[in-house]
Amino acid sequence: MALVIGLTGGIASGKSTVSNMIKDLGITVIDADVEARLAVEKGKKAYHEIISHFGPEILQSDGTIDRGKLGSIVFHDSEKRLLLNSIVHPAVREQMLTKKIDAEARGEHLIVLDIPLLFESKLTYMVDKTLLVYVDEETQLRRLMERNNFTEQEAKARINSQMPLKEKISLADAVIDNNGTIEETRKQLMRILHEWKYTE
Ligand code: ADP
Repeated sequence: MALVIGLTGGIASGKSTVSNMIKDLGITVIDADVEARLAVEKGKKAYHEIISHFGPEILQSDGTIDRGKLGSIVFHDSEKRLLLNSIVHPAVREQMLTKKIDAEARGEHLIVLDIPLLFESKLTYMVDKTLLVYVDEETQLRRLMERNNFTEQEAKARINSQMPLKEKISLADAVIDNNGTIEETRKQLMRILHEWKYTE
C-alpha cells in the first residue's frame, strides 16, 4: 500500500511550484486540473454527456468542447454549474483513482494527488495525508498580480472568490509556509516527506 498525499493550496500560493519539486523527485503527481481536461476530451463519456445537456453550440469547429464558453455559461448559472460538476467530477475522481492504482501496481510507495479544491470539494477521503501550500494574503496578492499581470482589483476578486488560505490551515495535516524563498520551501517539503517516511 502506498501513502497517498493530497496537495492543495489557493490561487498563487505556490502549489504548482511545490508540485514541480515533487515531480523532480520522481514521485508520481496526479493533477486534478489535467484530469479534468482529459475527462472532457472528444469521445469520452463526459464529452457526450456535456453535449447532450448543453447542446452542440458548446463545440468548437474541430468538435472539441469550448471550455471557455462552457466556463462562462456555468459562471453565471449555478444550476448549470452543478449539472456540469455532476458530469465532470465523477469522471475526474475515477481517472485519478485509476492512475493511483497504476502507480501502486508499479510498486510506488508515495503518490501525490494535486487537487486545488481538496477541502472545498470534500475529497480528503481519497488521500491519507493532506499538505497545504500557504502564503499570507499580501504575498498571495503580490505574486498573483506579477504572475498574471492583474491589477490589484482583478487579483483581489480572484483571491476573494476562494476559501481563505488561513481557513485551510487547521484542515491540513501539514503546512508549507511559502512566504520565504524557494529554497526554504524545498527544505520544508523534504522535512515533511521524510516525516511521512519518504526515502530517496
Ligand atoms: P499556484 O500553483 O498555487 O497558483 P505558483 O506555483 O504558480 O502558484 O506560484 C505563484 C507565483 O509565485 C509564480 O509566479 C511562482 O513562480 C511564484 N512563486 C512561488 N513560490 C515562490 C517563492 N517561494 N518565492 C518567490 N516566488 C514564488
